[in-house]
Amino acid sequence: MRPSRRAVLRGGLLALAGAGAGALGASGLPRWCGWDRPPLGGGYAAAADTPAAARHADVTVRYYAETSEPLVAFTFDDGPGPRWTPMVLDTLEAAGVPATFFMVGRHLREHAGLVRGRLGAHEVGNHSWSHDDLATLDLAGVTDELTRTHEVIHEVTGRAPGLMRPPYGHLGGSTLLAADSLGYDIVLWSQQMRERAFAADPDAQVRAIVDAVRPGDIVLAHDVGADRRLVALRRLGAMIDGLRERGFRFATVSQLVAAAAVAPRPIAADPVRAVSRGPARS
Ligand SMILES: [Zn+2]
Repeated sequence: MRPSRRAVLRGGLLALAGAGAGALGASGLPRWCGWDRPPLGGGYAAAADTPAAARHADVTVRYYAETSEPLVAFTFDDGPGPRWTPMVLDTLEAAGVPATFFMVGRHLREHAGLVRGRLGAHEVGNHSWSHDDLATLDLAGVTDELTRTHEVIHEVTGRAPGLMRPPYGHLGGSTLLAADSLGYDIVLWSQQMRERAFAADPDAQVRAIVDAVRPGDIVLAHDVGADRRLVALRRLGAMIDGLRERGFRFATVSQLVAAAAVAPRPIAADPVRAVSRGPARS
């Protein structure tokens, strides 16, 4: 029997890994086996294994929205959770700020009571059922993760989510295919909280966000996780105040995208600056 193409590829990869490990020594092994490098026996799931699932010629992956309007979208991942999600909702509600929550399906199933009736001003996106690395799953696996979460979001909020964010921002081909097949746009981010860097200096975390945000930015935060997350969550109100002083308004990701369709952001003339996306105060 002829070996399948996949088996041949896998054998080749294993041989390559063996050669690499020999050449690099033991210190090189974590580079092959770290949490963000799936086991060689599995590997990243390919994009076109099931091309019949593709519904469109392309799928949208968005880092930020192109707009000159002073709009910013805060996003909170991994919830809902009992420790901080209510506090975040309280802060947003008191400030009259809409945000987007990329929820983990099993967390929403467990903690629906925390958020039921409190999400009217907010958008809820799909962040998988289990928070596994979707890039390691095949199309059926990713579809199951997204579909189960879709159903619980619809059940709790009464609305069908149209946005998904892959855990860790990891995208395998099967995730792109599943997102397309289920009608999702994929949302990443262009700014993020740096809780580890600012653990001892919450004011610096506030300044970093307030100074760095530019029109159309999507800001990543987490309302579940390690205690260090509190550096950002406890100062959320100060970030909102600081951005409002700069003239910014807040939007859900879908509101941001809709506004950007009306008023696009000029394309940066300097590609290096566009990539580094350093602080801008204009
Ligand atoms: Zn996450």
